[in-house]
Order: sequence, then C-alpha cells, then structure tokens
Amino acid sequence: MNLILLGPPGAGKGTQANVIVKEFGPVQLSTGDMLRAAVSAGTDVGKQAQAFMDAGDLVPDSVVVGIIADRIDEPDCTNGFILDGFPRNVAQAEALDEMLEQKDLQIDAVIEIRVDDEILVSRIEGRAAETGGERADDNAETLKKRLKVYHEQTSPLLPYYEKKGRLKVVDGMLSIDEVSAQIRGILAELK
Ligand code: AMP
Repeated sequence: MNLILLGPPGAGKGTQANVIVKEFGPVQLSTGDMLRAAVSAGTDVGKQAQAFMDAGDLVPDSVVVGIIADRIDEPDCTNGFILDGFPRNVAQAEALDEMLEQKDLQIDAVIEIRVDDEILVSRIEGRAAETGGERADDNAETLKKRLKVYHEQTSPLLPYYEKKGRLKVVDGMLSIDEVSAQIRGILAELK
C-alpha cells in the first residue's frame, strides 16, 4: 500500500502517519524529517536546505526529489510507503509519477487532512511550546509563510490527484482518534 498524506503544516500528517505505520506497516517517508536530520548532521543537503526551511520556503525540487528517489529504492519500501510532506508542488508530483512508473509502482490513495487555517496557528504554537522550540520553523511568522506556500504551491495537488481519482478527504478538525478512524475506513476500502 503506497500512500500520500497531504495537508497544511500542523494538520497532523506526522501523527496520522505514525498511526498508519503501526497498524498497516508501510514505512513513513517524511521529507521534513529527512531534511531536519540532514541539517543536524551538517551534510551538503542540509547546508543547501537550511535557509529555505528557516524562512518557511520550499527547498528546491532537485534536492527533495533526489532524497525521495534514493529512499524509495531501499528494500524496506517494497512493503509499502507513506509519503508525508512530499510532493509539495505539481513539479514534485510529476517527478514522483515518473519515478513510480519506472519502478512499476503506483500510489493507491492520496489522503488530504483538511483543516481551517485559524486552528493551525494555535496548534503550531502548542507544538513549539511542547517541544521547547526544537523546530526553528515553528513560530507565528514562519507559519504564516508556510501556510501561504501551502495554499499557493501545494493545494494545486488536490485537483491534480482528484483528476486521477486518487484523492480522499478526511476532516482534520476532528480529534486525532476520529481522524484516524476516518483514515482506517479509507484504507479498508483499498484492500
Ligand atoms: P515539514 O516537516 O513537512 O513541515 O517540512 C518542514 C520544511 O522542510 C518545509 O517548510 C520546507 O522548507 C522543507 N520541506 C519538507 N518537505 C519538502 C518538500 N517536499 N519540498 C520542499 N521543501 C520541503
């Protein structure tokens, strides 16, 4: 089972990805986590990515597409994967389509976690307080930028996947458990 989780920052993609991994067993591929690890490790990728991340901008497509292409080739992905935070724009989605076609793979469902912008600000502030500001981009100013980037660059992926008949929507305003239940319902239908 190969899935994409879509949604604005703070929608709960990481939280729901964890639930799906535990219950259904795919590996979670989070470009945000991979980039943060690269920044901490001080690799070339990390050095290229850091300024974009701190500003709330997207890291260049060539960087993230390369990371995902390498990761999808690893053996643990053969049992299924869940993309969390990738693709973030139509160019990345097209690169992903090409990559999957070459490997004779497909995406079974794209799950959008839909949340109103107003609630995201308080969630991100909550996350920043909980993690003691561990993420440099969890602050009100950068969040506004990340939301703008989501609406301008990432939300065109919704009609992109809708046209392919892959898009499923869950109500991200509900509790974590209720959102998980909706996702379980979608995944049960795929089997
Ligand atoms: P996330 O943890 O998914 O919210 O990502 C944190 C930051 O990493 C984003 O604001 C971007 O700067 C960068 N990032 C993560 N995934 C991507 C992607 N697919 N394309 C470009 N930048 C990304």
